Amino acid sequence: MSCATALWRISLHGGHSGEFCEHAEGSLHDILEAACQAGYYVFGVAEHMPRVEPQFLYPNEREWGWTVETLEQNFERYAHTITQLAAEFEGRLTVLRGFEIEVVPRDRYAQLVRYYREKYKFEYIVGSVHYLHDTSIDGYSEREFGELLKGLGSMEAVAVLYYQTVAEMAQAVRPEVIGHLDLIRLKATRLGMADQVATPRVRQAVEQALEAIRAVDARVEVNTSALRKGLDQPYPADWIVRLGARMGIKFCIGDDSHRPAQVGFGLEAAREHLLRNGVREVHFFTREAGAIVPTSARLDE
Ligand SMILES: [Zn+2]
Ligand SMILES: [Zn+2]
Repeated sequence: MSCATALWRISLHGGHSGEFCEHAEGSLHDILEAACQAGYYVFGVAEHMPRVEPQFLYPNEREWGWTVETLEQNFERYAHTITQLAAEFEGRLTVLRGFEIEVVPRDRYAQLVRYYREKYKFEYIVGSVHYLHDTSIDGYSEREFGELLKGLGSMEAVAVLYYQTVAEMAQAVRPEVIGHLDLIRLKATRLGMADQVATPRVRQAVEQALEAIRAVDARVEVNTSALRKGLDQPYPADWIVRLGARMGIKFCIGDDSHRPAQVGFGLEAAREHLLRNGVREVHFFTREAGAIVPTSARLDE
C-alpha cells in the first residue's frame, strides 16, 4: 500500500546516506523507510557526484585515506543500490534515481555530469553550485573563501558571481532541479553580511539566473536544510520565491536529508513558504511504465 498521505508531499533532493557520503549517516534503505513514515508520495534520491580531482577532497575524506577513486567507487555502488531499492519500494513509494552535481573542475564539469548521467542511466539531476572558481562556498575551506572574498572585493560581488555561475550551470547541464538556489545566503549570514546578498545588483543577477532556469524548464526547489542550519527561511528566501512566482518559475521541494532523522524535516514549512509567496503548486515527476513523466500537485488542497 502507498505511503503517500498527500500528493504534494514530495522531495526531489535528499537521501544522502552514510553508505556513500562522508558527511551523511544511515543506510539508504533506512532513509527510504523514513520517507514512507514521513508520508511522501515521491522521494527523489540525489547523492553527490564524485569530485574527480584530489584538491576537492574534504578534510574528513583525506583523514580517512579516501581518494578520488574511493568517491568513484562509492558512486558506482550508489548507482546500483538506488536502482535495486527503487524497484523494491515500488507500490509503496515512488523513488526517483538522481544525483546532485558539482561545478568542479570548472573547465569540464558539464562533460562529467553528462558522462555519469549516461553511464548509470539516472532519471534526473539536481544542479547545485557549491564552488566558485573552484573554491568551496559551502564551509570546507574558510581560508580559501577568505581569499575569494578579498579577490572579488565584497560579498556582493561574490553573490553576483554565484548567481552568474548558477545561470551558466543551468544552461550547461540543463538540470531538472536547481538545488538550494540562494545557498550563498548561508555563508553571508554566518559572516554577518546577509544584507550584501540582497542588494539591487544581486537582485538583477538573481533575475538573470531565474531567466536561465526558466529557459531550460528546471524546477527551483524549496530546500529546508536552511532551517536546520539556523537560517530563518528555507532556500530560496521570500523575495526570490515571489520574483520566481511572477516570472512563472516552477517550484518543487527538497528536504536535502543526510540521515534518516532528517527525512521529511520542514516539509510543512516549505509548503507554507511557497503559499505565502504566491506559489500554489509543486512540479515534480512520477514514474509511468518505467519512464519518468512530469506532473504537479496543488499545495492548497
Ligand atoms: Zn551533502
Ligand atoms: Zn548541495
